[in-house]
Amino acid sequence: MKQDILIVGAGLSGAVIGQELAQAGHRISIVDARDHIAGNCHTERDPETGVMVHVYGPHIFHTDDREVWDYVNRFETFLPYQNRVKTSSGGKVFSLPVNLHTINQFFGRTMRPDEARAFIEQLADSTIEDPQTFEEQALRFVGRDLYEAFFKGYTTKQWGCSPTALPASILKRLPLRFNYDDNYFYHRYQGMPEGGYTQMVAQMLDHPNITVELNTRFARSQKTEYDHVFYSGPIDGYFGYDAGRLGYRTLDFERFTYDGDYQGCAVMNYGDATIPYTRVTEHKHFAPWESHEKSVCYREFSRECGPDDIPYYPIRLVEEKSLLTDYLDRAREEDRVSFVGRLGTYRYLDMDVTIREALDTARAFLARPETATASRISELVPA
Ligand SMILES: Cc1cc2nc3c(=O)[nH]c(=O)nc-3n(C[C@H](O)[C@H](O)[C@H](O)COP(=O)(O)OP(=O)(O)OC[C@H]3O[C@@H](n4cnc5c(N)ncnc54)[C@H](O)[C@@H]3O)c2cc1C
Repeated sequence: MKQDILIVGAGLSGAVIGQELAQAGHRISIVDARDHIAGNCHTERDPETGVMVHVYGPHIFHTDDREVWDYVNRFETFLPYQNRVKTSSGGKVFSLPVNLHTINQFFGRTMRPDEARAFIEQLADSTIEDPQTFEEQALRFVGRDLYEAFFKGYTTKQWGCSPTALPASILKRLPLRFNYDDNYFYHRYQGMPEGGYTQMVAQMLDHPNITVELNTRFARSQKTEYDHVFYSGPIDGYFGYDAGRLGYRTLDFERFTYDGDYQGCAVMNYGDATIPYTRVTEHKHFAPWESHEKSVCYREFSRECGPDDIPYYPIRLVEEKSLLTDYLDRAREEDRVSFVGRLGTYRYLDMDVTIREALDTARAFLARPETATASRISELVPA
């Protein structure tokens, strides 16, 4: 039986689920509170420079999931792009992620990989046996000099607190590379959509069974008008924040233009705590196949998310986790509603993971619509 489906949010989650269910013949209404589609992946041409801008921060597509890669390529041409991030620290520019070039440059050495590994091991603080905090984890694996130059200031600005207050789990086991690989991501498939992410999402939504209403905020009372709701808004927002707000970091972007090439790369991090922004994104470097005289850049500032701000990064510390458990329990009880996407499940999700989960969610619904309610959230976010 064909159903009337409401999808809240025209980001990647909503667009992929909408496309899959529309193909299967269901009638899809999508609402989004913003005045554009594509959610946080939204791209648009900067009117002054003509450069394609990643409006909500830099987005690089990378995945090992062949099906997801083929899927996005159905809707948009992806051109080769590898992210090569630089960082400014103590008045010098270094290569990220911290690799052999960074280590040799930082210490003024010409070490081979095995020499560098032994050198770092001797700098690392081996007295820390069971690191509990981010700082302990960093000192344990990279030692104080690299920690202070590349991790401490950036992390303090990003999370708005001392790395001594963050869990060790935020830092990967050994965040160093002992070779000259400066490709930010390891994934097999990496690229950038030629016409931008918003054009890709527009192609996904271009189906006779799909209608999209922008500038339209979902109200829970609307639920009764539909057979099923896929909700990609904030899970706490669905319940009117009645148990409290889940913590997020938000971002402010300070736009500026430059005649020519401002920094020679797409993303320059700023590791020093004395510089208030975390990074500068120069958007034209995301499209090296285009040519632009002028440049547009965004300085990025991170701060606590207030009620009227856009939620970016879920904080997920102890306090948030207990509140989340409360909301998840209620989400599981909610009849004919599936909570999806980064806000609906309160997790940081890369785009490929978002698409994978959206495809799986749509398929589970098509296979057994009557059991599709909030079951998906149980699989994704264990109680
Ligand atoms: C700064 C930053 C950089 C990132 N960079 C990368 C990257 O380089 N590579 C990568 O793979 N991933 C990246 N990501 C992750 C990527 O942004 C997410 O994977 C993607 O946005 C998730 O899509 P979504 O549809 O779940 O959520 P969203 O894109 O947030 O879409 C949700 C939509 O729901 C709408 N909405 C919410 N509540 C309501 C309501 N009540 N009524 C109506 N509409 C509502 C919102 O307006 C929004 O448009 C980055 C994320 C951030 C924060």
